[in-house]
Amino acid sequence: MAKKEKILIVEDEEPIMMGLRENLVVAGYNVVEATTGTEGLEKGLKERPDLILLDLMLPGMSGYEVCRELRDKGMHMPIIMLTARQEDFDKLHGFEMGADDYVTKPFSVEELLARVRANLMRGERRKDNSDNFEFGTFILDMDARLLRKKKKNGAKTEDITLTKTEFDLLAYFCANEGKALSRDQVMNDVWGMEYYGTQRSLDSFVASLRHKIEVDSAKPKHILTVHGVGYKFAS
Ligand code: CA
Repeated sequence: MAKKEKILIVEDEEPIMMGLRENLVVAGYNVVEATTGTEGLEKGLKERPDLILLDLMLPGMSGYEVCRELRDKGMHMPIIMLTARQEDFDKLHGFEMGADDYVTKPFSVEELLARVRANLMRGERRKDNSDNFEFGTFILDMDARLLRKKKKNGAKTEDITLTKTEFDLLAYFCANEGKALSRDQVMNDVWGMEYYGTQRSLDSFVASLRHKIEVDSAKPKHILTVHGVGYKFAS
């Protein structure tokens, strides 16, 4: 039998915690629990769960802060935010803090489990892609989640700062080199966050990436525009 996947639940409301725990255990997952933001952060680092369900409003540290701290400390597991009401949750902010997805309370068990499964699959794909990818004068370092630029005459490389979104997008392009990718496909595969993002926001992430990796971002050599479709990556 396959190893059980471990899910960390960070939630301060006992009835919600209880419901989540029961349903996840029945669905075959190992469950670890934390009831404050600080404890969530500690367990996220120590237990290395495969996925985290993270309440937004927590005593001590907020879900946003926990999420950002985990990402800052190099944790890449999928994080699903649990939010009280849709309007309370700043999607863009959560996304920038490194959240992968969110569900709004009250949620159905089916919806939650579907999100958990989808995000675990994305997490697996992320792990599988752990080889570095070289293109042009760059090396995309998948473990360090860094873009390095090779210098002409020495072994030293220069680190190029990418946001989480830019990194995820570039890693996806590299993994799908040579394929014409529709905007919908890119957004769905990279973010899977169907509420977030318009095609225009994808285009603006592409523009900022081009600015960092293209010699002339008006005449891109790596992230090519496929008219009427979307993008294609060329190394
Ligand atoms: Ca709460």
